[in-house]
Amino acid sequence: MEFKILADSFDKVEKVSKRLEMTDLLAELFEKSDVDEIARVIYLCQGQLAPPYKDIEIGMGEKYAEEAIAKAAGYTKTEVEKEFKKKGDLGLVAEEFLKKKKQRSLFSAELTVEKVFKNLMRIATVEGSGSQQLKIKLLAELLNSASPVEARYLIRIPLGSLRLGIGDPTIMDAFAINLLPEAKKDKALVKKVEKKLKEKKEEKRAEEFDKKLRLAIREIIESKYNVHSDLGDLAETLKRHDLKGIEKIGIEPGIPIRPTLAERLPTAKKIIEKLGKCAVEAKYDGFRLAIHKKGEKVTIFSRRQENVTEMFPEIVEAVKNLKASDAIFEGEALAFNEETEEYYPFQVTIQRKRKYDIDKMAKEFPLTLFAFDLLYANGQSLMDLPFKERRERLGKIIGKNKTIVLTDTIITNSAKELEEYFNKSVEKGLEGIIAKDLNAKYIAGARKFSWIKLKRSYKGELGDTIDTVIIGFFKGKGKRTKFGLGGLLTAVYDKKSDSFKSIAKIGTGMSEEMLESLFKMLSKIKKEKKPVRVDSELKPDIWVEPKYVIEVNADEITKSPVHTAGKEKGEGFALRFPRMIKLRQDKTPEQATTVKEIEQMFKKQRHVSTGA
Ligand code: AMP
Repeated sequence: MEFKILADSFDKVEKVSKRLEMTDLLAELFEKSDVDEIARVIYLCQGQLAPPYKDIEIGMGEKYAEEAIAKAAGYTKTEVEKEFKKKGDLGLVAEEFLKKKKQRSLFSAELTVEKVFKNLMRIATVEGSGSQQLKIKLLAELLNSASPVEARYLIRIPLGSLRLGIGDPTIMDAFAINLLPEAKKDKALVKKVEKKLKEKKEEKRAEEFDKKLRLAIREIIESKYNVHSDLGDLAETLKRHDLKGIEKIGIEPGIPIRPTLAERLPTAKKIIEKLGKCAVEAKYDGFRLAIHKKGEKVTIFSRRQENVTEMFPEIVEAVKNLKASDAIFEGEALAFNEETEEYYPFQVTIQRKRKYDIDKMAKEFPLTLFAFDLLYANGQSLMDLPFKERRERLGKIIGKNKTIVLTDTIITNSAKELEEYFNKSVEKGLEGIIAKDLNAKYIAGARKFSWIKLKRSYKGELGDTIDTVIIGFFKGKGKRTKFGLGGLLTAVYDKKSDSFKSIAKIGTGMSEEMLESLFKMLSKIKKEKKPVRVDSELKPDIWVEPKYVIEVNADEITKSPVHTAGKEKGEGFALRFPRMIKLRQDKTPEQATTVKEIEQMFKKQRHVSTGA
């Protein structure tokens, strides 16, 4: 495919104001892509060369990009620099300079997606002496053959500033549109969907059928995405073999699985009513890690599916002693002081998330991995086994190990016992407990009642904190003028519409250092207008791309006409006295608290008893 087609689609995506228009544009683009290029097209749409778990970052510095632009357009670096200072976006600078290019290049060739991808991949992977010059050359070579619009994106991609706001759900929706004609030939699927139709009138019925069938296709795709989180790979299989082709996709070590999530209930009594006899585990406050072992090769994924193997050498070592050739298991890692038998607070554990001084910190604050679930062992998926069996096998595989241990757990059907265990955990400095359904399968990527959390809370606080996404900020007033930032506009995630809906303005809980660093971080992701997937009637001074998640505490959830989260009859949800606790770097915006969860929390808080 010509790169021009991709660039033109990006240009259109930037201009739309509705997510559905974005979905249609993507469906059109994917339809035009061949089997052997669809994966690349998908990655490029999200400004990447590979899914996050492959850990391939293009990461080119602005200075080098400026040099490449100067080289390709025949201007000096100083001229490019000057324009960048004015415009603040090197993509637009490249576009402008290519419009007034001084020299016609001798070797200009037609740019294809393949060629662009190849050069960008080399830029991402070359190392050693002379590599910077080579990177400039590779980028300049692309710019040489580019039109001004193409140049805009050729610069933004390696700088990591493409930010079209295309989320994974939107990509899956676009796949579903394209698969509709094929799915209509699938008799079993058609029958299943027809059973769900409610419309009586013929014309409307056809419309309803298409909508429901698209949803059914989307569900199939998502169920595979949950166990094989690589959209490029899935797209290629879909192009090659249609929906039938992805049936065979299952979990395999080395490819991340989307984590199961916990529901909430307000009391021990309610938990026992819901689950009956269940496992009750200590809830540790550290990093959730998914460990994949394939023979000698160990890979560790974070909750947002980044490859974090390098950060935790002691865990990699410990995994080598497991009694299984292949395995996928999950646990929560935290700095644990064995001598005093105390858990360090999260602020200590978080220091282990670093790229430098890893060994030094590993010695100072070694981690203990509290393992809690086993999904795969010795060539077999265990996801469909009941939890109690998975846990038993997990214990056997771990055996005696200093760094990896099983989570502390009891099995009970008594609310009193559960509550006592909860109190004991909180006294030890833990967050609370997670109760688990002994018979449940592992549910990837979803929040069903197989896990229920109960967290400590204090008077005047919600039973749980909320993870909100920053969608904009307000400039500081008075004392805060000097920070450039006085407050944040935040949102929760609405899964149904794949959008971020406003819920709170937050101005407390941030230290001066935090205000400064938030301003720096957010200034890099400013948006001229409201991002397509953001739904907010409040207008901040500056909009930002929904990227960062913060943990927030509040006194309660209230109804307010100001916010759009769960808005019905003119009233949405809002947080009363919200305060920021910390940045949640381990969560992607789509992993923030959802509108549905807020709604459930709102309903529950009316009859919160004092229990636990
Ligand atoms: P939350 O982030 O509050 O929704 O709580 C769920 C998180 O608790 C999981 O994603 C894990 O990171 C963490 N966690 C801590 N201890 C456990 C445990 N014993 N079992 C499962 N998850 C745990």
